[in-house]
Amino acid sequence: MNSIAFQFAPAVMIPAHLIGEVQSKLAYVDERIACAQISPAGEQITLELKHAVSDAEKSQIEEKVQRVVVSMAQGAIRPKVQVLEDYLDRPTPFTADPMPELLRRGEISQEAPGIYALGPLLSRLIDWFESRFLDLAGSFAAQPYRFPTLIPARYLERVGYFRAFPHSLSFATHLPADLDQIDAFAEKAACDEHGNLNVPLQRFAPIQTLLSPAVCYHLYFTLADQTLPPQGVTATAVGNCFRYESLNLQSLERLWNFTMREVIFVGAKEFVLENRERARQRMQGIFEEMGFVYRVESATDPFFIGEFRKQAAFQSAFQLKYEIRARLPFKESTLAVGSYNYHQDFFGRHLNIRLPDGSPAHTGCVAFGLERMAFAFLAQFGFDPSHWPSSMQETFR
Ligand code: 5GP
Ligand code: ZN
Repeated sequence: MNSIAFQFAPAVMIPAHLIGEVQSKLAYVDERIACAQISPAGEQITLELKHAVSDAEKSQIEEKVQRVVVSMAQGAIRPKVQVLEDYLDRPTPFTADPMPELLRRGEISQEAPGIYALGPLLSRLIDWFESRFLDLAGSFAAQPYRFPTLIPARYLERVGYFRAFPHSLSFATHLPADLDQIDAFAEKAACDEHGNLNVPLQRFAPIQTLLSPAVCYHLYFTLADQTLPPQGVTATAVGNCFRYESLNLQSLERLWNFTMREVIFVGAKEFVLENRERARQRMQGIFEEMGFVYRVESATDPFFIGEFRKQAAFQSAFQLKYEIRARLPFKESTLAVGSYNYHQDFFGRHLNIRLPDGSPAHTGCVAFGLERMAFAFLAQFGFDPSHWPSSMQETFR
């Protein structure tokens, strides 16, 4: 048996712009990995395993890591990052990590990795941001919708989600309608010391449903096989979203279960692009009034390894995604708190949503992560409301 940490060189050099992206995928390589680090220069990978393994097992794990590296880094071209707004140099009254204080105050209570209950301060902050987002939605006369937390597997299949993001899926099932099986479950079901239920998967009904990974998909499915009105559709909704993040789940920065507010545009290409741009400009005003410290820059979605290179290059080439990246002063880094997205006619084509002239509709959405928004705010402004923006003083006095 061998020691539990080992290092090796990646099969191809990992360029600086991909280090974070490749590292986040290493969390999905093998259940035995406890921690995976890529050196800042991209020339060394360190794996820490949960327990000792044989040399043969080590080579197997290394081979899987190399598959990720080669698939994502070989021949990768550095995308040109386009910066639309840069307010990262605004001063912040706070520089500490808000997590210890949130814990001390009982404001967060971890139920499991990536699953938190939030207390009154965080809930009120989220409500405050929600009213800003609802103002934004109102400025477009967006119609309110409420969508389920569950989503049918066949919906996600239809829009290629299984291929693009298999690693982050969360599945929902139930017991089969069978009295004997339900009785047996009621009598014997229990969790072991790891929290695992002692019931084999084959005792559950086949999976037809997942936990929804996004809000706007539900709107596109309500519009499937329809012709849109000439003015298009503008909608807003808030919902629970689920993206399993394995070892990457940490603090409120990366949750398995988080909430997203979206404003969604469906219509002609110009309608979607112009409204996405208007939404950005209106948010710029809201952020300026708060003195929020952030930057808006082009970005790509976290596609899984096989799809990553092609899809990420496509997204950057066509400027399909911009992220609002808030400064986290305590770690000198930024966190995506929202995004401005344009999907071209992808959903229009796959779901047969038509414009009045019969051509496929275009879609776009503006999405805000509510927990991240509140977390980034506290990281920049701290816990003393007298240091908060004047527009918040009334609410939080
Ligand atoms: P997107 O659709 O751009 O991937 O996600 C929209 C927003 O949802 C992100 O900008 C972010 O604020 C939030 N979000 C996405 N994934 C996570 C996550 O794992 N944890 C948390 N807390 N928020 C997330
Ligand atoms: Zn969306």
